[in-house]
Amino acid sequence: MELYKTNQLKIYNSLSKTKEIFKPILEGHVGMYVCGPTVYSNVHLGNVRTFMSFDLVFRYLKHLGYKVRYVRNITDAGHLENDADEGEDRISKKARLEEIEPMEVVQRYSIDFHNILQKVNNIPPSIEPTATGHIVDQIEIIKTILDKGLAYIVNGSVYFDVLKYNETEDYGILSGRKIEDSIHNTRELDGQTEKKNPQDFALWKKADERHIMRWPSPWSDGFPGWHLECSAMSTKYLGKTFDIHGGGMDLKFPHHECEIAQSKASNNVNPVHYWMHANMLILNGQKMAKSTGNYILPNEIFTGENKLLKKAFSPSALRFFMMQAHYRSILDFSNDALEASEKGFLKLMEAVDQIENIKENKTSSIDINSWKQKCYDAMNDDFNSPVLIAQLFEAVKYINLLQLGKETLSKADLEEFKALINVFVFDILGLQNEVSKDSSSKISGVVELLISMRNEARANKDWALSDKIRDELLALGIQLKDGKDGTSFTVN
Ligand code: AMP
Ligand code: ZN
Repeated sequence: MELYKTNQLKIYNSLSKTKEIFKPILEGHVGMYVCGPTVYSNVHLGNVRTFMSFDLVFRYLKHLGYKVRYVRNITDAGHLENDADEGEDRISKKARLEEIEPMEVVQRYSIDFHNILQKVNNIPPSIEPTATGHIVDQIEIIKTILDKGLAYIVNGSVYFDVLKYNETEDYGILSGRKIEDSIHNTRELDGQTEKKNPQDFALWKKADERHIMRWPSPWSDGFPGWHLECSAMSTKYLGKTFDIHGGGMDLKFPHHECEIAQSKASNNVNPVHYWMHANMLILNGQKMAKSTGNYILPNEIFTGENKLLKKAFSPSALRFFMMQAHYRSILDFSNDALEASEKGFLKLMEAVDQIENIKENKTSSIDINSWKQKCYDAMNDDFNSPVLIAQLFEAVKYINLLQLGKETLSKADLEEFKALINVFVFDILGLQNEVSKDSSSKISGVVELLISMRNEARANKDWALSDKIRDELLALGIQLKDGKDGTSFTVN
């Protein structure tokens, strides 16, 4: 039987501001959309945190037995600089500065994005659509919104009429902002003066002569507004209403508020049942962000090449650091915090390696079922990874006591305990046992060294030493085999 049938998962819904029991639209299936990156520069560690948070969600839903369709877009057009930067497209701007094609910028940073997420062991989404691949779909939505009288055309651009929409709907339903307060002052599209009201947002923008990323439309040669792509792609791949929509907290307003308005205006239904927002990674007391220069790149963590770092850290140590905070909590980045997490991670991996040496017993003195339930309870409580990790440290204590013979487990319980540790550590948290990989390559090196010393001993007819090396390795479970092509070894 699928695990979701016996586990009551609760998700904090930003729309209702409460934890709700998760019930998908179609039993056994989950549709999830997460706003992806704007690929105009390398992803920073803050971006990675958000994508890792949703990787945890994806992994756990799959573990529970749901068939998940996870859609995460790539923004490769339409996302403009804010007012201060004259509203140039971020990708075009980078292309202009580097004297390359916009699509070269997109390619370069899409590759970087995928590389980084692979390093931190994120599972790729089921579909990864791009904004430029869905211009036609976006144009169709604009036509519908215009037909409903909720948008207007000015000089070849189309704007969403927020005040008109708000007469019958609630603009602010997600963010809780009052319409009078919600004047879009960031990520603003140029041509603000064309708007009837400052709250209105662009669905389509006429491209001026400088703007190279442009497509034909019934209104002008231009480009879609930033918010529209997510409405178009989520509807196309997940339907008019789907289960989960995620993104960083900073996208709640205006991006997600506008997505709701667009979808309601065009389809008359609330697009999303559960809105999930991941909290920010903080550096030096401020949100990590490209625009302010207050950021660290993931590769700097892996090489240690950043003045804020005292050393390099592995991708799993980084992942463990992220998982030690709940996705809805702010997380402060520092070298010391990362070092503390690394210690915990190494301790956990050491215990995972030791578990193989535990001998089964006739009876169990540990209640594995109760421990297992606590692990599931943590994850069912809005994906509470820090509480799960605390339970894994309980398991580390058990492993140490089991090794000392102070606690016992029956054969069946020991098997279950091992399997559960693997599930929670590797499948759900997505950690990788780099320590074990690393130490096994070191062991190979040491054995090869001993083999060559044994060869020297044999060449010198020092049989006592050569036998000693062979026998003592054997006592450690390492068997040497002499063959035509030299000596090989097996580890038992
Ligand atoms: P962007 O490419 O700027 O749209 O960002 C991609 C994703 O990263 C979005 O979901 C943002 O909310 C998220 N994000 C940006 N900065 C941070 C941060 N400092 N901490 C966590 N997530 C962030
Ligand atoms: Zn989006």
